[in-house]
Amino acid sequence: MRFFPYAETYDGQQEAIDRIGDALEARENVLFEGACGTGKTLAALVPALAHARREDKTVVITTNVHQQMRQFIAEARAINASTPIRAVVFRGKASMCHIDVGYEECQVLRDTTHDRVELEQDRAQLERRQRDLLEQAQAGDDEAAEARGVVMDELEEIESDLADLQDRSTCDHFFENLTTDRAAFEQWLFDEVRTPDDVYAWAGQRGYCGYELLKDTMDDLDLVVCNYHHLLDPAIRLQFFQWLDRDPADIIAVFDEAHNIERAAREHASRSLSERTLVAALDELTGLDDARADGVRAVIEAFHDALVGAYEAELGFADVGADWTDVTIANENGPDDLTDRFHDHYREGSVESGLADALALGRELDERYETAYREGETATRRESGTLQSAVFIDDYLAEADEQGQYPVISVRRDEGTDELYGRAELYACIPREITRSLFEELHASVLMSATLRPFEVTADVLGLDSPRTMAYGLRFPPENRRTLAVDVPPLFASKRDDPAIQQTVTDVLEDAAAFTPGNTLAFFPSYSEAARYADRVAIDGSVYLDEPGVRVQDRKERFADDDGAMLCTSLWGTLTEGVSFDGDAATTVIVVGVPYPHLDDRLQAVQDAYDEAFDELNAGWEYAVEIPTVRKTRQAIGRALRSPDEVGVRILADRRYTRANMGRYSVRGTFPPEERDELVGVVPEKLRYALLNFYSDHEAWDGARPTP
Ligand code: SF4
Repeated sequence: MRFFPYAETYDGQQEAIDRIGDALEARENVLFEGACGTGKTLAALVPALAHARREDKTVVITTNVHQQMRQFIAEARAINASTPIRAVVFRGKASMCHIDVGYEECQVLRDTTHDRVELEQDRAQLERRQRDLLEQAQAGDDEAAEARGVVMDELEEIESDLADLQDRSTCDHFFENLTTDRAAFEQWLFDEVRTPDDVYAWAGQRGYCGYELLKDTMDDLDLVVCNYHHLLDPAIRLQFFQWLDRDPADIIAVFDEAHNIERAAREHASRSLSERTLVAALDELTGLDDARADGVRAVIEAFHDALVGAYEAELGFADVGADWTDVTIANENGPDDLTDRFHDHYREGSVESGLADALALGRELDERYETAYREGETATRRESGTLQSAVFIDDYLAEADEQGQYPVISVRRDEGTDELYGRAELYACIPREITRSLFEELHASVLMSATLRPFEVTADVLGLDSPRTMAYGLRFPPENRRTLAVDVPPLFASKRDDPAIQQTVTDVLEDAAAFTPGNTLAFFPSYSEAARYADRVAIDGSVYLDEPGVRVQDRKERFADDDGAMLCTSLWGTLTEGVSFDGDAATTVIVVGVPYPHLDDRLQAVQDAYDEAFDELNAGWEYAVEIPTVRKTRQAIGRALRSPDEVGVRILADRRYTRANMGRYSVRGTFPPEERDELVGVVPEKLRYALLNFYSDHEAWDGARPTP
């Protein structure tokens, strides 16, 4: 408990700390579900830091939710105030570079800057030497005179090298890093837990590169706070551990919002290639004086033509907007359409040798660009489209028909030029293909979330072998909340246009708003359903609609400041997680229907892959669709009730949540037992009484109570 910074623990928090401590001693992975208010972050951090100090390990705590990052920093500062720790908050280079250049350019600039610093140091050393020798020569030492001649030659050579470097780009910020003492930075950094913005500002004011300073100061740390991709992207992870000067076996990883790892891992494992990169490769090859160029062009042109041909054959172009639209190309039996079309277009002999030439030529071109940039011949670091295309095509042709890979193409419209362009993608369906090895390599890990159950499914999907599991439900007084399952006819997608059902749902929403002393937050299966009901409901207060692609923050703030208002949004939008509606910002939360996501071909591919990969009957549907939907629903109803004093009602409006016999359509059983037991069934006509009674019992009305 030496790292616990407060006087008292929450109810159950001490037990969680002890259990996680035990699991870490045994080097076991932990799945830790804790509702809002259980103090998850400290319950994981406190034992992890203690174990790390004892065993010489480093704790890496990671999230993909911005608000959580701020929470980690606050907790780390509280810990540091009572027990000093060496902690770093790390963020990617893209937002940390002081001169706004990309990764490759920075690499070249740093190499050149290194060369310049080394040459200047050599020059200083040789100058000192020649001055000493000069003194000795003036005192009559002939050998010294001769040696000085050699030193002068070397100096001349260095001057000439330095003159060459004058024409090449270097980074002044990195130059400062290399030539001044960094002790002051280190002192400042560990005086407190600094944010990346603090580091950026401190370094910028002094002419340093904060990102590179931080990277060089990341050894011997107790704690690193960072983003998911530092652990989930296999290439970044390798470097990240090097910067920490740690092996994976020296890392204790704490993942927050861990129900999101599945999707994030899938994104990190997926690969894509844009039509624009293919066009850039063809431009790059035009006029190139190389015997392989025509053969390489044939490979890239065949893939380009196959891609364009595949989407042109399938699409009604009027439907394509600025968002990517998927075009299905996978076939149940035999190769996908893109592979088929590629082989139709490619008539130049062996694909293998064409691709081998493309890879070799691409690498040579890329090296050439690097040299040109390094030597100051170009102002930016160009990247080889040929290399990028060849790597992707090579992977695509080899892996598109492998289990767990879903080949797909997508098209979008460039809003500036109105042109259509496509991309080919290998969508990775099975996250455990990249997460299993990570969890095997780490010393131990704690995966925490408010919605991680069923644990066996999380373990299966992420490839965790026999993890230790623990769940702590809502610790707030049960009398302050009510969870109602309203017997609205099941809102199957096919029934959504049924006028009678629409009227029932509208009545339920209007009653929810009328009998709530404050705001009502309403989640729907999609933005279009949210828009439909935002349009239909007639309530005394304002109705706010959250729409895709429109910044929601202002609307959310206006809603939170309002009274008697309703905000309609999609369960799959941005307000379901990582956003708090504290106090009376949202008093009642209602989820309309069982909001399954749109079942597109990608999701079907994940279902098929899960069906094949897991032994469970119906694993595809349950693991890929039903369980994530119920987790999202649990996240959504968790938006109300953020502290023990708050009072609120959570409404699930669909017969599939009730005890009615809905056979395989029922989702009630997918909720954890204690949450299931809290679900109180109510018919739609009685909802107003249920709300009125509950809120009246809590004297929640400021003025007169509404009358039913
Ligand atoms: S060293 Fe730092 S400032 Fe210089 S290019 Fe790289 S990230 Fe940018």
